[in-house]
Amino acid sequence: MEKLSIAIIGGGPAGLAAGIYASRGGANVKLFEELFPGGQIVKTHKVENYPGLTGGPDGYTLAAALEKHAAEFDLPVVYGSVADLKLAETEKTFTVNGEDYAADAVILCMGAGPRKLGHPDEDRFVGAGISYCATCDGAFYRGKDVAIVGGGDTAVADALYLSALCNKVYLIHRRDQFRAAATLVDRVKRAENVELVLNSTVAGLSGEDKLSSVTVEDKFTHEMRELPVSGLFVAVGILPRTELVKEQVELDGGGFIVTDKNMQTSIPGVFAAGDIRNTPLRQVVTACADGAVAATKAVEYVGLLG
Ligand SMILES: Cc1cc2nc3c(=O)[nH]c(=O)nc-3n(C[C@H](O)[C@H](O)[C@H](O)COP(=O)(O)OP(=O)(O)OC[C@H]3O[C@@H](n4cnc5c(N)ncnc54)[C@H](O)[C@@H]3O)c2cc1C
Repeated sequence: MEKLSIAIIGGGPAGLAAGIYASRGGANVKLFEELFPGGQIVKTHKVENYPGLTGGPDGYTLAAALEKHAAEFDLPVVYGSVADLKLAETEKTFTVNGEDYAADAVILCMGAGPRKLGHPDEDRFVGAGISYCATCDGAFYRGKDVAIVGGGDTAVADALYLSALCNKVYLIHRRDQFRAAATLVDRVKRAENVELVLNSTVAGLSGEDKLSSVTVEDKFTHEMRELPVSGLFVAVGILPRTELVKEQVELDGGGFIVTDKNMQTSIPGVFAAGDIRNTPLRQVVTACADGAVAATKAVEYVGLLG
């Protein structure tokens, strides 16, 4: 069994920032990532709100910069999925790629994944018309008619992104006001090929092997309207990736990990950072800040153990 001072689970912005701080702080640390560095941020085509990065780099560029920065401090990264995580006050153990690890402190940075629409036919069309990532899959719908459902920053930004690729974009939202930033909403309202379908919910998904139309229901008139689209992009929020820890650490009503201001969870030596925790804002800047605090406090914690 390999013994670490600090194990960081997840290589998104929170995990990489934690890695920079812990490695720079001289800790015996390793970061474990099951897919690729950068986490959710690689799903976006433009990050225009990370302070100091002007010009709105794409998510891959920002992810690569975070990875490079962590490598400059010699942060060891292991690619593999963390499993069988056991979190006790005295010891934290887990396996990755069949190898056993123990750590004095763990920083949970597993982030979040897309919330599903919840329609009974949804799973049938995933990969056959339904997507949760416009940046990843938008190019498959070049020149076609598509819809996107949601009312936050991701939905509105993705509608703008798709409007440059697709013939027509329907933006379906259950209210008449968007939660998205005002600048994005202004831009989407001016986009000629974006039609806002407001006060409406997705009532039906149709097609043989592939999606061919989406039926929306007006929540006031209950009128049904069929939108002939070959793609539906779902951007209705995120769910925390707490599957490894939900029976072990305290969660809030939404299923996010509860931390104090030091990013400490309900178990001593277990910290959480980024989208997985009960934070009021889920963005790169807050994920990085959480990672920095969590790593600094984890380094202090393992130092006290002697
Ligand atoms: C489409 C989209 C656009 C966005 N646009 C912006 C934007 O413009 N500006 C902005 O600031 N924010 C944006 N965000 C939000 C931002 O991406 C997130 O707030 C940020 O990525 C959260 O970082 P994180 O490290 O907490 O989690 P994540 O980015 O979710 O990273 C978590 C990582 O943990 C890994 N992981 C999970 N479980 C395990 C396991 N068991 N073992 C090993 N690894 C594991 C995952 O593979 C993932 O890489 C956007 C998000 C999306 C989806």
